[in-house]
Amino acid sequence: MDGSLNTQKGVVLQMQDYSIHDGDGVRTTIFLAGCGLRCQWCANPETWTKQPKLAFYEHKCKDCLSCIAACPKGLDPRSVNQQNDVCNQCGLCVRACPSKALASACHEVTVDEVYQKIQRDELFFRYTDGGVTFSGGEPFLQHQFIRSIMDRCEPLGVSFWAETCGHFSWAQAKDLFLRFEHIFFDLKLMDSAAHEQYTGIGNEQILKNACNIYRLGVPMTIRVPLIPEVNGHDGNIRKTAQFMMEHLSGCQIELLPYHALGKAKYTAFKMLDSFHEFSVPTPEILANAYKIFAEYGVKAVQV
Ligand code: SF4
Ligand code: SF4
Repeated sequence: MDGSLNTQKGVVLQMQDYSIHDGDGVRTTIFLAGCGLRCQWCANPETWTKQPKLAFYEHKCKDCLSCIAACPKGLDPRSVNQQNDVCNQCGLCVRACPSKALASACHEVTVDEVYQKIQRDELFFRYTDGGVTFSGGEPFLQHQFIRSIMDRCEPLGVSFWAETCGHFSWAQAKDLFLRFEHIFFDLKLMDSAAHEQYTGIGNEQILKNACNIYRLGVPMTIRVPLIPEVNGHDGNIRKTAQFMMEHLSGCQIELLPYHALGKAKYTAFKMLDSFHEFSVPTPEILANAYKIFAEYGVKAVQV
């Protein structure tokens, strides 16, 4: 690296520091925008596209109207929807709101801005065996941006982890994986038709990518977002366990119980048309699923 600035840009939802649930130690999680799936239970729908978006949290609003006064387009930012082509996402209303009732999501950052953030957090990584985790959205859709960040950070010796839904081009991203210490990989549904029904896309590429990463020898944790009426039934759990036993031997399983807390985001981003509500798995449903995995010799992540 010659020390010159790298101004290549990517689109992030946010860069979150002090993350303790996205891998070992204290980590900085970089949420990259854009995803090809439309999972009906998604808790972060604002990451589906890279387009900048305005959120309005009505319960925080004090009706002071500072946002309207700040808008150069004469809009009421509280009722701007994502399709509005007049709002240019300048963010002036967000900065003017004294109550944090407005927020913007998805903005461009340069490789160098990410590098500077990582460099600032590096001391925490060193003392906790932490590092950087790429999440999303689907991070590997922005594989060039990830590659450039990794190249730029090479002198820092940072540990990289990633969370992926598995829906990305292997040909474009495959060179990256040996540079990762660990991958969290989602397997949502084993039946491709059901996968398409609930996420908009079949699972063939996802299953292939799980095997591709595994064959490189990169440590992986398989994650299943557990939704009783979608994938929590014994048939799907058995198929997932069977697949892991045959193709991902030695990987651990982590079940992520469904919750409906994402509804506030669908409301704030005016995406309620896409919101679906499911039932929350009971402790018995979770225990039953873990028991089935154990029958197949698949170990659970110890949390
Ligand atoms: S982001 Fe800018 S243009 Fe859009 S509503 Fe807010 S102030 Fe107006
Ligand atoms: S500036 Fe904030 S608190 Fe005031 S009206 Fe706008 S959204 Fe509500």
